[in-house]
This record gives sequence, C-alpha cells and structure tokens, in this order.
Amino acid sequence: MLKKTFHIALFILFPLYALEHYPFSLLPRGYADSALEPHIDRETMKIHYEGHHATYVKNLNEELKDHPAFQKYSCKQLLTMLDKLPEKIRVAVRNNAGGHENHTFFWRCLTPQYKKPSKRLIKAIEGMPYFGSFEGFKQQFNQAAKKVFGSGWVWLCYDKFLGELFIMTTPNQDNPIIDHRPGEAIPLLALDVWEHAYYLKHQNKRASYIDAWWSVVNWDFVEENYKKALL
Ligand code: MN
Repeated sequence: MLKKTFHIALFILFPLYALEHYPFSLLPRGYADSALEPHIDRETMKIHYEGHHATYVKNLNEELKDHPAFQKYSCKQLLTMLDKLPEKIRVAVRNNAGGHENHTFFWRCLTPQYKKPSKRLIKAIEGMPYFGSFEGFKQQFNQAAKKVFGSGWVWLCYDKFLGELFIMTTPNQDNPIIDHRPGEAIPLLALDVWEHAYYLKHQNKRASYIDAWWSVVNWDFVEENYKKALL
C-alpha cells in the first residue's frame, strides 16, 4: 500500500517520461498536429510524431526485448550507461533511446500558446558574456542550427559545475548527456534539425524553418528546466 502511494506521488511530482522504462510508448504531446500552424505544418507534425518518433520507440523496444537486465532503465539512464550495454545492441540503443528521449523533450519545447521568455530567463541568458544579449544568443543558436551537417540537434544546456548556459549541437539522435558527467550538460531547449522536421513545408530552406520555430518555443518549459537544473 505504502509502495503504491509512493508510486502515485512520484507520478504527480515528475513528468511521466522521467520514470518510463521498457516497454516504452509514445506519450501524448498535449496539442493537435495542426496546433503549430502556420509555423510548423500539420502534415509534418503528424509524420514526425506517428512516423519517425513512433519508429524510435518501436525499435528501442525491439532491441531491449531479449535483454531483461536493461529493461528497468529509463532512456536517460540507458544513454549514460552505453558502455555497459552488450555491444550487439549498443549503437541501436544509443540511436533509438536518443530518438525517443530527444523527441519526447522536443514536443515539450513547443507550444501553440506562445509567451515571451520571462525577465529572469532573459537575464540569465544575457548574463553569459559570450551571448551578450538575448538577440546575440538567438543569432548564435541560429548559426549553430544552420551549421549542423546532415542530421542532428541544437541545444541550450546548463552546466552545473561552471554555472553557465551554453549552446551545443549533437549529431544523429545523440543527447547532450552522452559523454558528459551528470550535471555538465543539462538540456533546457532543443531544436530538431533533421530534414524530416521541416522538409514538407520548408524544403531545403532550414533557415526558414528555424525562423518559424522561434514562434512556437515553449519558454515556460525552458524556464522549468532551468529552475530544476539550478537545484
Ligand atoms: Mn525528429
């Protein structure tokens, strides 16, 4: 009984996905495919979620099916213990646990009800000398996003040890926590720059997708992540 109550309490306190383990499932995004129009189109949102994201989930479950020892771990846990996984499934778990983790996070970075970032968050970003201003941060983020060669992601992260916000890019479906100590690269905001995220509407014009994307960023979620990172 106590155990059950404890589990219910955990569910209320943390986002669902933090506790998720095998068998993984596609979690609700909380808005419709068309909700981000005209910035991100309905068709792209539908295929990206039900097609691409769902495939990462399916493949991840497939990889872990015959490895019960690793079925109790969340995606984040799997991504920080890749060297402990059997070699046979290591790359596939990196790609598909990364794909599931990144997309679940990405959907939460988006909102149909756009609100400007809070003064506190703007101040934190402007406090980083290399950004200089909020505009400076956006320009650097845009540059990083345009420079990703092939498929990958752009992130705003927080480093607990240095107390710094910074931009990083990752190839493929890599998450910033791979190859970093816990707390060294905590994701606050993510932008998916795989072509599947924009090709239907923006074709080869990644820059136009990035511009549109700023109009649907969920700054409340970014701030929530920042506050947690500061704890
Ligand atoms: Mn994607």
